[in-house]
Parts: sequence; structure tokens; C-alpha cells
Amino acid sequence: MAPACPTCEKPVAPRGANPAFPFCSHRCRLLDLGRWMDGAYRIPGERAGDDATGGASPPPRQQSCRGPTPQEETAPRAGPASESPGSLH
Ligand SMILES: [Zn+2]
Repeated sequence: MAPACPTCEKPVAPRGANPAFPFCSHRCRLLDLGRWMDGAYRIPGERAGDDATGGASPPPRQQSCRGPTPQEETAPRAGPASESPGSLH
């Protein structure tokens, strides 16, 4: 029974002939990785630790280190009075 690609659910070639195992292709592998990065889904505690190619460099991470956002946008503005004088009379 052939395993199915987690991304497109097509049958996956065996590990020996498929560098993108357990995915059917590199494209599906990247797609799945992209989903991981987005945090669309996560499997707690599970990790693929048997990497055949030890020289694979990890993808560049995009860290969003945002501090506390100042909420000055909702504060009332005390700008120059733009009311047109003359119409109050
Ligand atoms: Zn696939």
C-alpha cells in the first residue's frame, strides 16, 4: 500500500526513488512547508527527524518581533482648528 502525499494525496514513490519523500514531489513538499510556516495546522510533538540529506539548510525564517503596538490612532487629535469661522454667527 503506497503512502499518499500529505499535500495532494497522490500516491508517493518509495523513499529510495523519491528525494521528496514523504511527498510526491518537491513542489508539494514546499507547499506543505509553507503551510507549516503559516501555522495553518500543526501536529504537536511530531517531528521528522530522519533526514537522509544532512546538508539541507533550513529555510530563512521571517520573525515578526513586534512590540506592544501604541494605540494612538484612537486618540482624539488636537490639530489646528479647521472649522471655518463665520458660519457660527
Ligand atoms: Zn503531492
